[in-house]
Amino acid sequence: MSEIISADVAIIGTGVAGLSAAHRAIELGLNIVLITRSPDPTECNTKYAQGGIVYSTPEDQKLVDDILKASSGTSNIQTAEFVSKYSGKIVENLLLKKAQVPFAKDEAGEFQLAMEGAHSFPRILFAGDYSGRAIEESLLDCLTNLSGPITILKDHTAIDLELGDDRKVSGIHLLDNQNSKAVTINCSSVILATGGVASLYLHNSNTSGARGDGHAIAARAGAELNDMEFVQFHPTTFYDPTSHKRFLISEAVRGEGAILRNCNGERFMERYHPDLELASRDIVSKSIVDEMERTNHPCVYLDISHLDSKWFKKRFPTIASHCERSLVDLANKGIPVVPSAHYTCGGIVANLDAETSVEGLYAVGECSYTGLHGANRLASTALLEGLTFGWFAAEKVAAKNITAGPILPYSFGAGESGDETVNNDMWARLKSLMWDKVGIVRNKSQLLEAQSELLNLQSEVNRRLKSEMLTDELLGLRNAMATGLKIVEGSKKRHKSIGCFNLN
Ligand SMILES: Cc1cc2nc3c(=O)[nH]c(=O)nc-3n(C[C@H](O)[C@H](O)[C@H](O)COP(=O)(O)OP(=O)(O)OC[C@H]3O[C@@H](n4cnc5c(N)ncnc54)[C@H](O)[C@@H]3O)c2cc1C
Repeated sequence: MSEIISADVAIIGTGVAGLSAAHRAIELGLNIVLITRSPDPTECNTKYAQGGIVYSTPEDQKLVDDILKASSGTSNIQTAEFVSKYSGKIVENLLLKKAQVPFAKDEAGEFQLAMEGAHSFPRILFAGDYSGRAIEESLLDCLTNLSGPITILKDHTAIDLELGDDRKVSGIHLLDNQNSKAVTINCSSVILATGGVASLYLHNSNTSGARGDGHAIAARAGAELNDMEFVQFHPTTFYDPTSHKRFLISEAVRGEGAILRNCNGERFMERYHPDLELASRDIVSKSIVDEMERTNHPCVYLDISHLDSKWFKKRFPTIASHCERSLVDLANKGIPVVPSAHYTCGGIVANLDAETSVEGLYAVGECSYTGLHGANRLASTALLEGLTFGWFAAEKVAAKNITAGPILPYSFGAGESGDETVNNDMWARLKSLMWDKVGIVRNKSQLLEAQSELLNLQSEVNRRLKSEMLTDELLGLRNAMATGLKIVEGSKKRHKSIGCFNLN
């Protein structure tokens, strides 16, 4: 029998989006339960963000244009205007004033602003190349020092929402991973802040938790998903032939003047786009893929030999030490880079109050689709989107002030404990098929093959769910198969290349 905890709102996820929602919810006097499946609440994609967060001031007339341009005109203009109008105040209030994130300042004590691809001018707050860690830790520290009715559940995996007969949210069921027992939160509002799906791909820059849990949970409850086919591949992740994992080399490195060269030392972006290395990510990624094919070489190189090496180590300490550990001589050929799966532009459809099509369900951050990114996201707007809509979701929950309907405890069969090697094998099959058949360049016949293989994998997981003990891994596999299928379905409906979606 599961324990039941009553609250005004359950927030699933402790990245920037979940923490922003939690901060505002506490300020507004809501009783909250903040949940993460990770034993360490800082472990999420937010922590690994390198470049930084856009700081949009009222004088910035160009942010909306830049967002639209990066997305090839597919972003939702109302959302872009909304973010442009309100996000700066939230950055100031929450990140600068309350959480006091240690962003870089110049000698006069003014915040320094960085440049990244497809931005009209430098407008990005950063802390070295560990901006995400600075934001995550400052927000979490500040939250745990607030006095207010908050329960933080670590190592608890959200399983499914519970809806009443009126189809409104009456709570969410969790798996307590330490004790293998169910916990139920009885609440009228659930904010999903579960992040993206890039870890479905063999080569990706994400944490292993980016497996689409929130997307699948929302879809099972009947919420609408959109644009799932727009998976952004970051142009420059470190190429290591001995590992599937890809360490990110921030766009800010190109923002500071790094040059992309092919294996023959040629600056190839001249052939592809007038904005060269600072063209939008979709363009740079596709150009790199074309160049790798043309030269028949497994990577291209990011040349920083003209930058002062002492300065580089200070500005990008994490990247410099990764290169050092990997024995890359920064003064020579350059950093070997390839594109890898990085960001989910589509997601759970949410309006400007973060409401989804299910009453009481909100989606914020990378798991949501607000339309901000369209077919390709502008650099350093992901943290911004999470911060902004986390805030507004909490405001909406407080304004609605609904009492939760009744909920029954969750029960699941005892089952036998699953085999870890079977889990690993299923993940490996999924990741390879997503990379090979639903990757940077897709074609219709491979998408059909991927769909049929995913359906087989999904049946296997469903069979195992009936006989095995419920675990976080098994729940993750179920969600990953469902989300992978959504990416394939979205891709099948598109007949033309646009943004980060390339059809062959
Ligand atoms: C290497 C890297 C560099 C990046 N650099 C930048 C950058 O410079 N600027 C920028 O704007 N963006 C950047 N991004 C993108 C940005 O970091 C993410 O889009 C953003 O942090 C997502 O925040 P989030 O709060 O939506 O999700 P996350 O930070 O991913 O957090 C998701 C949370 O949900 C929890 N969760 C998931 N499923 C469940 C479940 N079933 N039950 C319970 N909890 C669950 C996780 O444990 C985690 O706490 C980068 C991303 C990566 C990977």
